[in-house]
Amino acid sequence: MSQLRAAAARGLRRSGGRAVPPAGQSRKGASRRGGTPAAAPAPPPAPHLFSHPAEIEALRGDLLAWYDKCKRDLPWRRLVRAGCGWRWCLCSDSRLLPAVWVSEIMLQQTQVATVIDYYNRWMQKWPTLQALAQASLEEVNELWAGLGYYSRGKRLQEAARKVVSELAGQMPRTAEDLQKLLPGVGRYTAGAIASISYGQATGVVDGNVIRVLCRLRCIGADSSSPAVLDHLWAMANALVDRSRPGDFNQALMELGATVCVPKAPLCGECPVKRHCRARHRKLFGKPTPVPDVEDCGVGGCPLCPPAAEPWDGSLGVTNFPRKAAKKQPRAEWTATCVLERRGCHGALEFLIVQRPSSGLLAGLWEFPSLPLAQDLPEEQQREVLADHLRAWTGQPVVAGNLQLIGEVVHIFSHIHQTYVVYSLPLDGDVTLDPALSPSRWVTEEEFHASAVSTAMKKVL
Ligand code: SF4
Repeated sequence: MSQLRAAAARGLRRSGGRAVPPAGQSRKGASRRGGTPAAAPAPPPAPHLFSHPAEIEALRGDLLAWYDKCKRDLPWRRLVRAGCGWRWCLCSDSRLLPAVWVSEIMLQQTQVATVIDYYNRWMQKWPTLQALAQASLEEVNELWAGLGYYSRGKRLQEAARKVVSELAGQMPRTAEDLQKLLPGVGRYTAGAIASISYGQATGVVDGNVIRVLCRLRCIGADSSSPAVLDHLWAMANALVDRSRPGDFNQALMELGATVCVPKAPLCGECPVKRHCRARHRKLFGKPTPVPDVEDCGVGGCPLCPPAAEPWDGSLGVTNFPRKAAKKQPRAEWTATCVLERRGCHGALEFLIVQRPSSGLLAGLWEFPSLPLAQDLPEEQQREVLADHLRAWTGQPVVAGNLQLIGEVVHIFSHIHQTYVVYSLPLDGDVTLDPALSPSRWVTEEEFHASAVSTAMKKVL
């Protein structure tokens, strides 16, 4: 019996399409006089639920049949499939251990097409958790370079070390333990590993699942709000197929990635279109009738679109999901200097320095850089950069010798970063203060093989 239906069945009566609490309880909760505990929150209105077991069964069947036929052939799926009965089995092949975990971490914020090459190289280099636990952060950063969100790789390796050194090589096997014990494993990743690898009947909610569920049940309130996310997690947990949870979760995500896509969903080809209230509304212009409970009514529903932004017929199913306007990334400026010299074999070499081990782009290598105040005139930029390089190299640096090359813009998730790029050719070697950041000279080829960010590759 689904949690959602159970919640709907709790002692609540309805009036005028709105849920109201039982007699004796205020709308906000039970009376606390006499130590009576607060009432459980009212369940979501029925139009946003899967209330009928038969419908849940039908949706599971439709989705899994489609997935069996249409799923993409992805390297991490091949490895899982080759294992013990489609499950991730530690006893039969320790290579299966990191397969789901690594792919799930890499796929966060990153497209499948980009991840495949990184995943293949990673698994070739560190096929087991034991191998990963022995890797250095430098090696991890080198392989991760260009994939973005670098803390993911770092924490993956930290977690592997923890499993090997503190958990006797035994992976936690439930979503709760995975989330509790492993750094970098959040609710989504824990659910994905536990369901795909260990067969735990637990749901997952990622961006694709949010989109599909919001459309299936016409959820138009801000999908990033805690209340809506709680509802989506409850729905995902209620829907997940009990005998094939991993496949069900992957199918839901696959549907969001390939059919129920953000801008032009392929509703005509959708395996769950008969369950989709957004599509029904697009075709018939009103919510699907719900036979045994009332609609949520107009206004006041925590899951419907806000009254100020009602259904827009021109958008069709893409009315859902909705998100609050994204905060604009803050603007930052950085002066960065490409110091060049001719190496002993005549090849051009560049000086790179290592960033601190925490914070943005932790431990990655970059050209010597320093933050700039907004709108600092070019002349003053040269002066501050020359001062910085002087202190750093212990050599005289003439501001006028710094050649302004141009600007490179790179968008991080929360920062609109403008690199103001200078170059400075040097004769001979530069002895750097060993008390400062680690540094080294690299050829262009070595630069690209180093743990450098995409932003620095753009700078070069
Ligand atoms: Fe998404 Fe359309 Fe399928 Fe509904 S019918 S789940 S909107 S693709």
